[in-house]
Amino acid sequence: MKFPFTQQPDPLGATERARSWRWLVPVLLVLLFLAVLIWLPWQARQMEATERQEQLIADTLWVEQTLRFELARSEEALAGLGTDLVTRPPSPQVLQARFQQMFNNGHELVRIVWYGPDGDVLASHGLEPPAALPAPTRLAASVAVPSRRGRYGEAYGATPATSGLIDYYLPLYANGGSSKTLAGSLVATYSLQVLLDETVPWWFAQDNALTLLDRDERPVARRAAGGPGRGVYTHRRELDLPGALVVLSTDSVKGAPKLLPNLLVGSVIVLALGLVLSLASLWRHISRTLAAERALRQQMAFRTAMENSLITGLRARDLEGRVTYVNRAFCEIVGLPLEELVGKKPPMPYWAPEVMLEYEERFRGVLAGTITPQFETVFQRPDGTRVPVLVYEAPLVDADGRQTGWMSSVQDITDRKRAEELNRQQQEKLETSARLATMGEMSSMLAHELNQPLAAISSYTAGALNVLERTNQAGEPVNAGMLRHALEQARQQAQRAGQIIRSIHEFVKKREPRREPVTIRSVVDGVRALVELQARQAGVTLRVELPSLLPQVEADRVMLEQVLLNLTRNAIEAMHDTAPDQRLLRIAAFQEDGKVAVSVIDRGHGIAPEVAAGLFSPFYSTKAEGMGMGLSICRTAIEFHGGTLTHAPNPEGGTIFTFALPAQAASRALG
Ligand code: ADP
Repeated sequence: MKFPFTQQPDPLGATERARSWRWLVPVLLVLLFLAVLIWLPWQARQMEATERQEQLIADTLWVEQTLRFELARSEEALAGLGTDLVTRPPSPQVLQARFQQMFNNGHELVRIVWYGPDGDVLASHGLEPPAALPAPTRLAASVAVPSRRGRYGEAYGATPATSGLIDYYLPLYANGGSSKTLAGSLVATYSLQVLLDETVPWWFAQDNALTLLDRDERPVARRAAGGPGRGVYTHRRELDLPGALVVLSTDSVKGAPKLLPNLLVGSVIVLALGLVLSLASLWRHISRTLAAERALRQQMAFRTAMENSLITGLRARDLEGRVTYVNRAFCEIVGLPLEELVGKKPPMPYWAPEVMLEYEERFRGVLAGTITPQFETVFQRPDGTRVPVLVYEAPLVDADGRQTGWMSSVQDITDRKRAEELNRQQQEKLETSARLATMGEMSSMLAHELNQPLAAISSYTAGALNVLERTNQAGEPVNAGMLRHALEQARQQAQRAGQIIRSIHEFVKKREPRREPVTIRSVVDGVRALVELQARQAGVTLRVELPSLLPQVEADRVMLEQVLLNLTRNAIEAMHDTAPDQRLLRIAAFQEDGKVAVSVIDRGHGIAPEVAAGLFSPFYSTKAEGMGMGLSICRTAIEFHGGTLTHAPNPEGGTIFTFALPAQAASRALG
């Protein structure tokens, strides 16, 4: 019979694939999230850098415009003054006043010199006019005169310690500039340092280091109120001065923006890291759980396979006796499918009606928390067949050590029972054969024994006939007394013969063992005639010593008689070589520790140690014609009755064989 027990585990492929997909999506999302998180601050930094750079460019442009505007204002004022000087030259005081006003308007102006057409100094203000125009100014003049426009010379006079100057050369012409002849010139000298200091607002100077560079990239003026520039955000812008190349270079004191410019980004990163860590630990935890689950599944599969391959039935019950689990073997033993067993409470469908009371009794024990650890019983299959089983029960304990029910293992012992039965029958046959053999051995003695009553019958009946004959011939009346006596004797002898034949028949007939209360006296009496017969034959004196009060035993009478007969026969045979006056056979019975013991005591040759070793083995014999089955059968028979068969040396020489049987409790005092 086959029953569905466990579902086949899923083919791994589909589930595994689904699982890896389930993992892939969150992992990809987290990776994406992390990438965005890392990219965001970097991008913010980039944007900030760009913004700062743009701001710097705008500011630099604005400063350049301011510088240019300052110089342009000065140029305009010079042009106005130049026109006035050519058309209606003011008085020296007025001129000085105008010079002074120009100086006041722009502090970068450090010197104004008015040259005549021949190059002589007509008036000047500020620093002392130079002995000769510096080379850059001369160069500017050479271009300015033909073009009739004011022009700057390159910056000059800068040393590493001092800043540079720059000259503006303005040629003057009469008649409002229409005359072709040079009427003189105005040369204004500006300090580039003052220009930077005065024109650039303080807040800009605070944030940026400013440098003015000449054509050869030499610094001609510097301003770095907020410290040196970092070289990160820089910009260069040429001042749009006709004739001269001056570059305004700005360098922000600010460094590159930090990667984690603010707390927000920092905390986002920390949180992301935390997320990754917790995800990793979750991952580890889940993979461990999955691994454990896989191992558990394998274990389960292994166990299920093991349970299904068992031929021992397993059954678990909870504390209320409800069946919680059965294995395949159990289902097969009771012939019922799993579904009809699991969840069931007693009475169970496999209880056989004839042992119902026993089950109920045992089940009450289970509910009370006491169990029989091992017992034999019978289960019934649905078709009515009975299955003898051996059940082992043990408490079922959970992981916390609490008892949750009972676990039973059930063995189908049909085969064992059959073997036992066969064995028993064999044993019986053997015993019968042994009895027949005993009888065979005793046949000549029996013939002799039977001969006696038969001869007596014959002579008594002959006597009776004689009496009848004599009375017939003599015509005397029948002597009824004599006749009755002869016939009575004949009847008694016939009864004795019949008794012998019956006891032989009883002894040898094949029969089932039958236990009943038996007294030792009746057993001894049963074989007494035969024992006496053997003893007489061998010249042995028999002495029977039975106490008057001896409990009964629950036994098969014939078996016990056979045992006694075997032991006495062995005892008589052992005394074959004993001196005739020493040949004493005693049968003694006594009570000891709730047992009734019977000893067969001889004065024979005793038992040598090497003989003792094989004494009870079947077919062991030291006799030429011995079968060697006697003691083996005796022991089996005594053990069948729950008793023991032992031997010991007789202190007076010879051997004592003793068998002891449990005394029947109710009959302790019986004789
Ligand atoms: P058998 O009598 O056919 O030999 P048994 O099984 O009755 O077979 O006895 C086995 C052997 O045990 C005997 O051969 C004998 O050697 C020994 N034995 C049995 N009883 C006695 C006894 N009372 N005294 C000495 N030896 C004995």
